[in-house]
Amino acid sequence: MLFQVYTLEDIEPVKGLGAKIWDKNDQEYLDFYGGHAVISIGHSHPYYVEKIQNQLSRLGFYSNSVINSLQEELAEKLCKQSGYTDYQLFLCNSGAEANENAIKLASFKTGRKKIIALKDSFHGRTSAAVAATDIPRIVAPVNQNHEVIFVEKNNINAVEEALKNEDIAALLIEGIQGVGGIVCFENQYFQKVAGLCEKTGTMLILDEVQSGYGRSGKFFAHQYAEIKPDIISMAKGMGNGFPIGGLLINPDIKPEKGMLGTTFGGNHLACAAAIAVLDIMEKENLIQNSKKTGDYLLSQLKEITRIKEVRGKGLMIGIEFDFEIAQLRKKLLHKHKIFTGVSGKNTIRLLPPLNINKQQADEVITALKEELNILK
Ligand code: PLP
Repeated sequence: MLFQVYTLEDIEPVKGLGAKIWDKNDQEYLDFYGGHAVISIGHSHPYYVEKIQNQLSRLGFYSNSVINSLQEELAEKLCKQSGYTDYQLFLCNSGAEANENAIKLASFKTGRKKIIALKDSFHGRTSAAVAATDIPRIVAPVNQNHEVIFVEKNNINAVEEALKNEDIAALLIEGIQGVGGIVCFENQYFQKVAGLCEKTGTMLILDEVQSGYGRSGKFFAHQYAEIKPDIISMAKGMGNGFPIGGLLINPDIKPEKGMLGTTFGGNHLACAAAIAVLDIMEKENLIQNSKKTGDYLLSQLKEITRIKEVRGKGLMIGIEFDFEIAQLRKKLLHKHKIFTGVSGKNTIRLLPPLNINKQQADEVITALKEELNILK
């Protein structure tokens, strides 16, 4: 019997291709949820499948105590495509683990203990990451020993005040808040935060677990603001469903043997998956498509007057209503066969694969319009 902590839809997907999935009765669905922002290059891309299959037939796993040149290849491609050519890569297995290691690294580097996070943040469920997550019900007593200051969003004075004693190890901020409802930050806000971190010797950690890997229309969402964080955490889109996470680390932070580590992180299969993702992103111009199709979706959605607010960048879109959307999402799923995500009670989240086309975007717009007219 399962330890059932998830609320399940009564659907079992058994097959996927591109932005489509099929359930066990062969019913087709359009995937505008991306398995929670995970599917970047589309389901079961043939090149991705082949790369993983080939690697598995050679060597699936060996430990981090030996040379693994796939890690080098991944680091080189990732640094080049993201524009962080002088940064160093540390590999792990999930978003929470990436943030946990980022916080540790910041603490090692600064010798400080306190961290700053934002209201409505979500950084994962491991100890320091969940302590920096503004959802009290998922923070267990054992996670409560971390010293975390939550500051108001988009309030630079609050950041300045929290940093003034120069005793903060790290400020953690999402490129775009995901679980918090697709909340974007102004470029100026990011730039001021980066400036204050630099001035006070605080490590700036950009959590790009959800907003990274092309989802925002840039490789990382913070790149709209042209800032350079000390540490960037990533996961979801990185392996297109194969579990892998990572940190890009500023060259000023020097590694020491044993300071971070993991058994599974950076294993051969995960690297093969992540390399395939980057190859496909580049070859199929998926970041450009994310921007173009995202802009199209945003402009179409902004014309629907029944929507209270549309937020987002690229293919990370929040649609907020002034009513609860549970029924609307059910209609989209069961009648129109479209998967969507959710945030809180009033916001639909669109997080499709980055290779969706205009026709698929139109399908979602048409379905939404139809349901909103009916709901009027
Ligand atoms: N950080 C952000 C911004 C996320 O959205 C998530 C997951 O939703 C995480 C961290 C945690 O990632 P994982 O579930 O892979 O641990």
